[in-house]
Amino acid sequence: RLDYRNVSENMVYKSTNALNRKAPLPLDAIQSVARAHTELKNLMSALNSKRNARSAVGERIRRSAEANDQEAKEAAMAEALKLKEEIAPLEAALIVAEDNLLSLALAIPNDTHPSSPLGPESAAVTLSTHGPEPIPASPERDHVAIARKFDLVDFESGATVTGSSWYYLQNEAALLELALTNYALSIAIKHGWTPVTTPDVVRSEISSRCGFQPRDNSDPPVSQVYHIHSAKSPELILSATSEIPLAGMFANKLFTDKALPLKVVGLGRAFRAEAGARGRDTHGLYRVHQFTKVELFAVTTQEESEKMMEEMKSLQTTILNGLGLSFRVLDMPTEELGASAYRKYDMEAWMPGRGSWGEVSSLSNCTDYQSRRLHIRYKNNAPAPTTTTTFAHTLNGTAAAIPRLIIALLENGAKFDELGELVGITLPEVLRPFWIGGNERTII
Ligand code: AMP
Repeated sequence: RLDYRNVSENMVYKSTNALNRKAPLPLDAIQSVARAHTELKNLMSALNSKRNARSAVGERIRRSAEANDQEAKEAAMAEALKLKEEIAPLEAALIVAEDNLLSLALAIPNDTHPSSPLGPESAAVTLSTHGPEPIPASPERDHVAIARKFDLVDFESGATVTGSSWYYLQNEAALLELALTNYALSIAIKHGWTPVTTPDVVRSEISSRCGFQPRDNSDPPVSQVYHIHSAKSPELILSATSEIPLAGMFANKLFTDKALPLKVVGLGRAFRAEAGARGRDTHGLYRVHQFTKVELFAVTTQEESEKMMEEMKSLQTTILNGLGLSFRVLDMPTEELGASAYRKYDMEAWMPGRGSWGEVSSLSNCTDYQSRRLHIRYKNNAPAPTTTTTFAHTLNGTAAAIPRLIIALLENGAKFDELGELVGITLPEVLRPFWIGGNERTII
């Protein structure tokens, strides 16, 4: 299902692309795939000629039996036995060669959109900026200080019960999570996205097929996902993003082109081991191990995926604009693209307490990278012989990743009196219909 021929025929592009993306691959990975593909083709043709020979011998056995020619029949049977003995090891070798080729090729990243900037994060290109003028950076606006003052996040119990970077949201922060979730869902649903709640535990295999390898490229490699140990079940992990169960929903399905695009908006929890994370990103809620996320996932035709990416960008923009945040949209450079992404846009909101822009959402066009690995296809409705079956294109984007939205809202919404005392938080009006009532506190 992977396009091995495409790799063999475009080795220079594929190697340069892997280098541009700093893909965690051995230097000769592309050549190894091309070599393994040639070996596979040779094995298949050797096997086919033996199988053809065996059919021909089978025919001879049948005819000599009919003609009562015992001598010819015995000779043909001896030949059939010899062929059978030759075919068995070839078949076994073919399975090994297929597995070998698949595991080599699975690690090759997607191609890259010709407009994506080359290089590291600093090479990102700002496509647009939105919302009010950013307010001046100020340590008084640090979300952790604000959360402590109003008793919104309990990091200590998180640390006791689970560990560092685990947390409890409480009081208005708990209500804010629910309001933000329902606000983002309501906008997506209004724009024709079908709501889905997902399993947050997935087979490791499905995650790999979405382009998330279980181990990263540090030396020695470490796992960025949480594994669930069970002797009985297949290898299970906590899902790093509901993109994985959402993509998995469409695995092994064949659609008509008329049925596309399929647009779902999933609600799930994301679990990230964040091994190696340190420094200011681990401050407060910025880089935590578990968070609620509303995720957009689309299945489209090849022709429509770039248009769908723009549609999703516009939806994400509507959601962030509604929250009154200052934010910018970035076209992400090659080294920032996950294995599956052909192109990626990130959105960053201004976080004055942090004193910088912080990524709040991300959008990737994965073209046919995931659909080839998950076997998601569509066929056109043309009459045979012009009917074609093609791998679909898939896209995923954040509608709301709760903790970082909470950071942006607390840091931008903090209210101070004339003496500079923190007295409350102003939250966007759009959240009012989603706010569970009955809370007596008045900080907001
Ligand atoms: P990603 O799936 O890594 O592109 O992340 C999607 C969004 O989730 C990001 O834009 C962030 O807003 C948020 N996010 C990612 N990782 C974390 C984390 N460890 N803690 C909190 N939010 C995160």
